[in-house]
Amino acid sequence: MFDTTECPYCEYENDMSDALSDGLSSDNTFDWECENCEEEFEVFVEFDPVYYPSKIVYEKCQKCGTTTRDICEKGRIFPYPAHYKETKICRPCFHKGYLEELEMEEKSHV
Ligand SMILES: [Zn+2]
Ligand SMILES: [Zn+2]
Repeated sequence: MFDTTECPYCEYENDMSDALSDGLSSDNTFDWECENCEEEFEVFVEFDPVYYPSKIVYEKCQKCGTTTRDICEKGRIFPYPAHYKETKICRPCFHKGYLEELEMEEKSHV
């Protein structure tokens, strides 16, 4: 990711960190006014693909015992069913717990 780009007219290093907040046109370019000489120039943005590797970890659901790589861990997924004392559960158990919690909430409001 770039942070500055050089003005083609005066070679002033323009801070680009806010440049992308407005979004880019479909051809990945935007016009920028030089902070120094106030000439407008076009900036082409090249996006490099970024890969975020993470290990595949199979873990056991503490509730039903299923081994899954899609484990829901307390503190990392919200809203975690508060009535579960288990901290790592599979996704079906997570959904079940979530629904149970909704039901409990409904009852408590009656
Ligand atoms: Zn300039
Ligand atoms: Zn489970």
